[in-house]
Amino acid sequence: MSIEDNIRKVVPYVPGEQPQKKVIKLNTNECPYPPSPKVIKALEEADWGRLRLYPDPKSEALNEAIAWHYGVESSQVFTGVGSDDVLSMLFLTFFAGDKPILFPDITYSFYDVWAEVYRIPYQTRALKEDFATDPADYYGENGGVVIANPNAPTGIYEGLSFITDILDHNKDSVVIVDEAYIDFGGETALPLIKQYDNLIVVRTTSKSRALAGMRIGYCFGNERLIKYLNDVKYSINSYTMNYPAIIAGKASMEDTEYFLETVNRVKQTRSETGEKLRELGFTFPDSQTNFIFAKPPEPFEAKDVFERLKEAGIYVRHFNKPRIKDYLRISIGTDDEMMMLINTLKGLLKRK
Ligand code: PMP
Repeated sequence: MSIEDNIRKVVPYVPGEQPQKKVIKLNTNECPYPPSPKVIKALEEADWGRLRLYPDPKSEALNEAIAWHYGVESSQVFTGVGSDDVLSMLFLTFFAGDKPILFPDITYSFYDVWAEVYRIPYQTRALKEDFATDPADYYGENGGVVIANPNAPTGIYEGLSFITDILDHNKDSVVIVDEAYIDFGGETALPLIKQYDNLIVVRTTSKSRALAGMRIGYCFGNERLIKYLNDVKYSINSYTMNYPAIIAGKASMEDTEYFLETVNRVKQTRSETGEKLRELGFTFPDSQTNFIFAKPPEPFEAKDVFERLKEAGIYVRHFNKPRIKDYLRISIGTDDEMMMLINTLKGLLKRK
């Protein structure tokens, strides 16, 4: 017996690099534009003396702004320190049974980490060859289902009938739909929370609202589910949402115009970048997100291209995993950044 026997050992999630030097950063799906000027103004006008006080444990101002923006009740909203925190609380709250939870083999790589750390039994279901998700893989007894829609890192969006199909076949377990990227394409499952008392829809301000650094995520579900979630949150840390985050998140929710403008710019750049990547021989599924999951043309290897881009000061993401090792996940940056990427790729692809 040693202290080692009592230590919870986990293989942690590996986040994309955050280099401190100036590089073209297309590796963590951040927004290339700043947050709404109204967010900056609200922070400038904040009463910083209030930092001596604990923040509102209910983060009411933020939850109400979210509820107002989405046309739901604030009792149907839960906020957390990024959607990573929200998802972690969801796993802890709703996956307390003995049956395995289900999620795809290729999806957000934090899901299996939370399952491991909370000792939740889980099984993965293989995506089809073209990375599409088969709803039938999620029929049958289980302890819960987690679906990112659009999926990451593939960028593929499955229609709402796919979600209702999974919901209809899982009346006895909670279905989490992670919509981190939904603002960039596809239709949200949010209205379905009225019909389905087993649905949770997760969102983030990190991608489409340019607030990754502030750490604000949220989810929607019926009042009963949100109450269970809050009970667990208050059993761990009441003060998850700090004062600046409450102010910034609220201001962001109140500026729909800027939000839509930013999202549309990213979508426009995505479509132009897609065309140029295709001309260079890259292949990729249609993206409904702020990234493109692209395979370099033969004989070039994704890992090689990833490393050469890095040497050139352009960071993209490469996952060294069996089914996806031939792909690069490229976040959509500004038009200038994408032009630099394309020009650098042109140089690299000539050389072999
Ligand atoms: N879900 C998915 C599918 C993601 O790709 C990410 C980003 N890494 C997150 C959730 C977490 O984002 P955040 O914690 O910044 O809200």
